[in-house]
This record gives sequence, structure tokens and C-alpha cells, in this order.
Amino acid sequence: MIKKIVVLTGAGISAESGVSTFRDNGGLWENHRIEDVATHEAWDANPEMVLDFYNQRRKQLYQVEPNAAHKALAKLEEKYDVHIITQNVDDLHERGGSTKVLHLHGELKKSRSTVDDYKIYDINGWELKMGDVDEHGTQLRPHIVWFGESVPEITKASKIAARAYIFIVIGTSLNVYPAAGLLESVPYFVTKYFIDPNARENYNYNNLTIIKEKAGTAVPRLVEELLAKA
Ligand code: NAD
Repeated sequence: MIKKIVVLTGAGISAESGVSTFRDNGGLWENHRIEDVATHEAWDANPEMVLDFYNQRRKQLYQVEPNAAHKALAKLEEKYDVHIITQNVDDLHERGGSTKVLHLHGELKKSRSTVDDYKIYDINGWELKMGDVDEHGTQLRPHIVWFGESVPEITKASKIAARAYIFIVIGTSLNVYPAAGLLESVPYFVTKYFIDPNARENYNYNNLTIIKEKAGTAVPRLVEELLAKA
């Protein structure tokens, strides 16, 4: 039977594509404090500024490409059932060729109704503005899970993580919950890898190999090793 590899990714996997992380920049995301752009309070106080912030991120996304790490994970599908669970809101996994990608924190290229979380739409182009409404006349917001909001996909993600044969974590500070807690759903006997140049060394997980390197180098190498073993 084809074995399941589950991969949890964070902003670090997209860093070498030119998309900045925020914890590497003193807790700022593209020079903005998280509280000013990625919370419901920010949206209530200044929706134009929040829309503009995500418009800029979306515009940038059209100018960047998947890197060697995204592409290697797609190649892993040649011999494994690969499930990507990503904290990223970019679409670089999909554009790199991965076919099963679960976005825990939403997607930059989508909008959502401000009254019904389940009404999600594609955004045409890079801009979402005040006055852009859905078919019910309701203002649209970015389809992003802001800090303090619930993470609807976490239950599905935990079930996927619980069935992993191998679990790989890439480019995350493991600071944002509940995503960081997914490792708790992975059975203790499962082989685990953590690729991040700044990974701590004192994680208390069984069978964990820590690789303190950049994703663009370490992921393609690990993928080749796993393909050779399959
Ligand atoms: P984070 O900013 O908290 O941490 C980034 C991690 O990436 C750090 O541990 C850092 O050491 C690591 N890193 C930096 N360069 C790397 C590289 N070349 N290879 C491997 N690892 C590298 O990111 P997070 O843990 O994902 O949490 C941030 C939250 O902000 C997420 O929930 C996400 O929704 C959002 N965010 C998303 C994006 C994106 O979609 N690309 C970018 C910034 C922030």
C-alpha cells in the first residue's frame, strides 16, 4: 500500500521564493505589527488598511515562483500519498505541483463573506476593495484566518496527521496555535523530520530528526532519500 507522508509547512518554506516570514523580521510582517493588519479588531477599526495590506501581499504573490522545496514535495507524490498542511496563505505549493494541500489559515487569492464564513470566492486579479460585495450585497473580506479567530480546518488536519507514516515539518517557528499543536496528533512511533535553520533542539518528540538548514537545500535532499527508500 502506498505510504502516507504528511507535511506541515510555515512561512519559511516560501522565504526563498522572496515572500518574507514575520518572525524573522522582529515580529513584523512586511513592516506591519500583526495586531494592525491580521486581527478582527484591525478590520473593525480600519478595513481599508487591512484590505490594502492583503492587496499588497496578493500583488507580490503574482510576482514570485515556487522554489526547489515546493517542487520537491510535489515530486514526492511519485511514490507516496503526500498531504500538505500549510499555515501559508500563498499558493506556492499548488503552483509547485502538489495536489493535496490543506490551508489552515486561509488563502490570499480568495475572499469571504463578512456574514457567512462558508461563502468563499476567488478574487479576480490582485485587488479587493471596500464596496466589493457578494451576490447578497455583503461586503467581502480577505479569506484569511486572523489571530484570535478559530481555525475551522484544524480538525481535518489532526485526522490527517494522526494517519501519517512519516511527518515532516518545514519552516515554521511553531509559535502559532493550534497549528503548532498538530505534532501532538502524530503517533509517537512515526518518523518525524523538522527542517528550519532556527529550529530549537529541545523538542520532546519521539523519533524526531532536526535539520537546521534552509528548505531549498534540505527538502530536495530529504525527498531524494525518501524516494530511494520507497
Ligand atoms: P514564522 O514567521 O513565525 O516563522 C518562520 C520560520 O521560518 C522561522 O522559524 C524561520 O527560522 C524559518 N525560516 C526562515 N527562512 C527559512 C528557510 N529558507 N527555510 C526553512 N525555514 C526558514 O512563520 P509561521 O510559523 O508560518 O507563522 C506565521 C503565520 O503568518 C502563519 O500562520 C501564516 O499564515 C502567516 N504568514 C504567511 C506567509 C505566507 O503565506 N508565505 C508569510 C508570512 C506569514
